[in-house]
Amino acid sequence: MAQAQDLRQAITSVSGRPGPVLSAYMSINADIPENQRRAYLVRLRDAMNDNGVPEDLQRRVREYVENEAHPEARTLAIFADEDDLFEVYRLQVDVPESFRWGDPYVVPLTLVLDEHEPYGAAVLDAERFRYFVVSPLSTAHGEEEMKANGFREIDVHPSEPYPRGGAELDAESRRTEAHVHSFYKELGKLTRDVTFREGVRRLILAGPRERTAEFRRTLPHELQERVVSEEHVDLGSPEGELLDRLEAVRERAEHEREKELLDEIRETGVRGPDETVAALQEENRVYHLAALWELEAEIRWCDNDQLAIREITSEECPFCGRKTRVRLLKDVLVDLAAARGARLDFMRGENENTDTLRDEFGGLAGLTRF
Ligand SMILES: [Zn+2]
Repeated sequence: MAQAQDLRQAITSVSGRPGPVLSAYMSINADIPENQRRAYLVRLRDAMNDNGVPEDLQRRVREYVENEAHPEARTLAIFADEDDLFEVYRLQVDVPESFRWGDPYVVPLTLVLDEHEPYGAAVLDAERFRYFVVSPLSTAHGEEEMKANGFREIDVHPSEPYPRGGAELDAESRRTEAHVHSFYKELGKLTRDVTFREGVRRLILAGPRERTAEFRRTLPHELQERVVSEEHVDLGSPEGELLDRLEAVRERAEHEREKELLDEIRETGVRGPDETVAALQEENRVYHLAALWELEAEIRWCDNDQLAIREITSEECPFCGRKTRVRLLKDVLVDLAAARGARLDFMRGENENTDTLRDEFGGLAGLTRF
């Protein structure tokens, strides 16, 4: 099982490589029009050529990605060198695309690991209990099978067999109900253990309504607080359909979370690229950023100081006097957010949240500590 701790170690070991290393963050999200017909394969080939990645390594990377027909992720992060390094991470979040050949570039990966939380889904009816987790980040070679939409199934084994309802005589009904209750209590504890172990902070309950309602009542209190949604689903439907439903629920919950973030920013936050970058970089008081995925603005950057230069005409850095360069603001945000310990949420698509972010906040906004 890919635990956050193991992932952190793996990332640290990649970042300690002397290089040159290929660090590639490639968007493979099938919902993005630019990725139709796996057009990312072309971008990958061009980017590796442009960066001067050695032929032999190019071929190994291309073969790997071409053979991943259903990668079940939104972004692939690849780290490879001419020696024995070849690591692939699947990200269930959108990260700005970048390809580098040189020092390892793990910043976007640590940002995802630090700032996005796994979702858990407990699915149950009168005869079955299943637990799924979708993590923002996982390695490609875990023992568990990666299912549709990036879900993994975690084995949960109650100590007694599942009580079946329905066929009992009336005299036995009450005893059976008590039995179901104690059974659910045990399931609740198992669910708590696996939820904590997997670092799940947002939990979906799914199944026939009367079952999820009862299960929710028997859950330990610290878990009840993590339930974000109770969904009516039929466990008898094919697994693919079930996971599509869970993914739709997860997206709705994420959309709600983003909306709450924007509402809070409206009350107390900073907005617009200029004010937000100043508050983030110079005043160090932003702890959560909301950025439009389609943000096209550019900003100057000093590689020596690792600082954004807000005066777009400053070809020389006002701090160290060296040459600055122009970068996409979106890429700069990834580096600054990581350096300042701020969470970064990219919002994508055409919806109420992206409308607010674009029209009201100028594409970038943040929550401030003070
Ligand atoms: Zn400088």
